[in-house]
Amino acid sequence: MRTLDFEYFKNTVSTMRVDRIISRPIGIIGLARSGLAAAKLLKRLGGDPFVSDVKPESELQKELAELRAENIPYESGGHTHKLLENSEFLIVSPGVPNNIPIILEAQKIGIPIFSELEVASWLCEANLAAVTGSNGKTTTTALLGEIFKTAGFETATAGNIGYAFSEVCDQISSRGWIALEVSSAQLERTFDFHPHVAILLNLTPDHLDRYGTFEEYAHVKVRVAENMTGVDFLIVNADDDYLVELVQPVEARRIFFSLNKKVESGIHLEGDRIIFHSGEFEIELGSTSDIRIPGPHNVYNAMAAAAAALVAGVPGESIRKTLKTFGGVEHRLEYVDTVDGVRYINDSKGTNVDSVWYALQSVPENTILIMGGKYKGGDLSRLNDLIKQKVKHIIVIGQAAEIMREAYSDIVAVSKSDSLEEAVTSASVLADAGDTVLLSPACASFDMFRDFEHRGQVFKDAVLRLKTRSSG
Ligand code: ADP
Repeated sequence: MRTLDFEYFKNTVSTMRVDRIISRPIGIIGLARSGLAAAKLLKRLGGDPFVSDVKPESELQKELAELRAENIPYESGGHTHKLLENSEFLIVSPGVPNNIPIILEAQKIGIPIFSELEVASWLCEANLAAVTGSNGKTTTTALLGEIFKTAGFETATAGNIGYAFSEVCDQISSRGWIALEVSSAQLERTFDFHPHVAILLNLTPDHLDRYGTFEEYAHVKVRVAENMTGVDFLIVNADDDYLVELVQPVEARRIFFSLNKKVESGIHLEGDRIIFHSGEFEIELGSTSDIRIPGPHNVYNAMAAAAAALVAGVPGESIRKTLKTFGGVEHRLEYVDTVDGVRYINDSKGTNVDSVWYALQSVPENTILIMGGKYKGGDLSRLNDLIKQKVKHIIVIGQAAEIMREAYSDIVAVSKSDSLEEAVTSASVLADAGDTVLLSPACASFDMFRDFEHRGQVFKDAVLRLKTRSSG
């Protein structure tokens, strides 16, 4: 078999730019996971960080204890001028709004502001495979990390999953690969960030509260590739015409993936066979039925991760093996258990209408759907056809219960439960052997839960109790 004869980028790996941080006072705004990790990174490599958060001390006890243990100075309960007085630059956490007074003031007096992603990338010798897009980032990043692991690469998975980038950026050598989930907020304040491989999964309207227009959001996403050169690889969804057009000016070599057509260089389907080709090189990566994570959206995610792995030098065998074994990420169409012949699936991360649409694509007929929570908007009627086809009963919960009932009671039986535990019990009574119970709320979780992880865990615990009762 021919091998890929790409000219490789290994020799372009950047050297660490510790000179940019050593002995320099650096302000960090926001003490969530990435802010804390950035502070500790700077401290361990010889920088002089100072952290500031609006939350009162009482809400930051765990994080502040970590700062104290490392001798990192901080302020809590608001941002004061101390933060600006001698900072050479600021690092702003992704959750911090752009228009708060301290940021506006820093801009006015000309203090540079970077994201954690940017600064950690200065302090990283490893090869970076960055994953971005509107949906599927976490799943694709986790799968790519798993493929690297199967191939025996020195590797880490970071970004929104696993570790913050700052926790691992200096832990992986120049031979290794970091699979890195990259959000649009992180990309807003990048300048030299330069991945060797980048995946652009898809673009659908999202975060418009932050960006105003879809075009502005899209341009931020494409920043992932703005420093890439002709030896790097940009992996793009060829079925997303807008995206393909948008990346025209990028210098990196293109690898496409598509469910619908044969691409010039990249991954396409022949029947259900997944084929990668580039020039003379061609390799089969298994069939769509080999991919363990369910649904057509996950075929996209699998293709994108496989393409990134191949150009990073992973052998086809490791990719084929991982596609068969990778079970997905918790709370994303996660198979929980089968009780009395009924399959229970946790898609607590299905927080918008689009993701429930994909979740319903992935389940069989006779599904009992649990939905509701804190409503975020979205066109609920988009689900009508799939609900008619696949769903035999909807159980609604939370603040949005009545909105959901109103939207669907003309097309399917709808009942209401006062809690998620009660919804699981009702679903178990309504279900016959062979049916599926799916939690895919189309809503945020904050009306009843801490976050979507908490909601998913409550669902799984309720299923476990059913199982214990059933077998006891
Ligand atoms: P992200 O990290 O971008 O939020 P996740 O991997 O956490 O994405 O998936 C969140 C939800 O989005 C999943 O539960 C699934 O319903 C949906 N989803 C996943 N991948 C895709 C995709 N490629 N296209 C559209 N929707 C997707």
